Amino acid sequence: MTLSIPFDNSYARLPDSFYARLTPARVAAPELIAFNMPLAEELGISGTDDPLLAAIFGGNTLPEGADALAQIYAGHQFGGFSPQLGDGRALLLGEVIDRSGTRRDIQLKGSGPTPFSRRGDGRAALGPVLREYLLSEAMHALGVPTTRALAAVRTGEDVYRETILPGAVFTRVASSHIRVGTFQLFASRQQYPELQQLFEYTRDRHYPETKTPGELLAAVCQRQAALVAQWMSLGFIHGVMNTDNCTLSGETIDYGPCAFMDQYHPDTVYSSIDQHGRYAYQAQADIIVWNMAQLATAMVPLVQDQDAAVSEFTEIINAMPNLIRGEWLNRFGAKLGLAAPQPEDARLIADLLHMMQAGGSDFTNTFRALASGSARDEITDRESYDAWHARWQERIASEAAPEARMHAVNPAFIARNHRVEQMISAALEGDDSLFHHLCAVLSRPYEDQPDAEELRRPPLPSEVVQATFCG
Ligand code: AMP
Ligand code: MG
Ligand code: MG
Repeated sequence: MTLSIPFDNSYARLPDSFYARLTPARVAAPELIAFNMPLAEELGISGTDDPLLAAIFGGNTLPEGADALAQIYAGHQFGGFSPQLGDGRALLLGEVIDRSGTRRDIQLKGSGPTPFSRRGDGRAALGPVLREYLLSEAMHALGVPTTRALAAVRTGEDVYRETILPGAVFTRVASSHIRVGTFQLFASRQQYPELQQLFEYTRDRHYPETKTPGELLAAVCQRQAALVAQWMSLGFIHGVMNTDNCTLSGETIDYGPCAFMDQYHPDTVYSSIDQHGRYAYQAQADIIVWNMAQLATAMVPLVQDQDAAVSEFTEIINAMPNLIRGEWLNRFGAKLGLAAPQPEDARLIADLLHMMQAGGSDFTNTFRALASGSARDEITDRESYDAWHARWQERIASEAAPEARMHAVNPAFIARNHRVEQMISAALEGDDSLFHHLCAVLSRPYEDQPDAEELRRPPLPSEVVQATFCG
């Protein structure tokens, strides 16, 4: 039996100005590292025992029905506008309609240069590929809307970064790859017919319940507000919230220098390229509003009456901070075991966070310990904790089964940076066992897994990862 992917390609039917058609570059010696069987099943892919999986997901064999293309987009990178970016090292093979009726993109990343590669080589190194595989699947298991990982393949070729590294190709699945930057491209070029087409395509694909540009904008803002609040509730720092890395679908995309923080501090930054903390942990709530304002700006030409559009969109953007505060309150309230958090609970949450910050508590372990009654051990200032604990107990006294609620939202296991680094070091030596082990443990993050207790340990001083890098 040969691999069969039931492609149904809609983006390829949009005009040529949306992409560049091309085929993936051949690689020397493709070798399959991982293939996500449950996801393949969800996508209706059959013949997954095909010996050619490595050739297909390494880019050497184009599967039947694929219509490979690099998408064009623009974007604000660290606040500065880049008028043309685009898939510089990625190729959309096509789309499938999954088992639940949702259209999903299947995209190769690291598959060779495209017309949008600029100075890049179109390639990906093994480390970042495994990082994205692990992190995106971990986020999915945590319940976060995200792109998924279908496959990872060694290419048998070197890529040149600061050092020479083994190359790899990653296969990403997304409910689409439409970015804020895709709207910005057509708006900034004043290609208004294309902008209109992109709007209709996005609306039909993701928000069929909406009609007008304003309704679509509001729906995207809602999803992005929810997404960022959820990231924050898990201690996740995206690291490169450029507008080209911000989806219309509301999925997390582009796992570059992202990280889960260990010790809680609101100003935490890991990304080596984020020198001024633009995308620091706490800043994410502001940046998403800024990004949505860029989307709003790009959407103004879609409306006949521009003044009306500006005032309607301004109102939508101005409402976003409140939206995020509400989502944040719900997420963090649930972390404390509250079924229906109230605005006045924000104080209780903030006071715990302040104690955590003051003593450098481990974010994940402190919240996980609340339900089992051992959170006191995680806080340096025990006296303050005891006072806080009394207030908290009083507040949750009337809650039914708060422990179960807390266990369902406070993970035991996150992809800790030092483990990710150890996993990459081992894979560079040809040992993928830690990668597979981490994938398995992180697929059940809310379950106690006594055999994997060691993976809950925060890094030793010698293990602390200071900076993360783009691939
Ligand atoms: P990112 O910061 O990962 O969102 O990437 C920004 C832009 O750079 C995107 O348009 C990427 O396609 C492009 N890019 C990143 N790495 C490479 C590479 N190795 N070769 C070509 N283009 C790249
Ligand atoms: Mg990107
Ligand atoms: Mg990237």
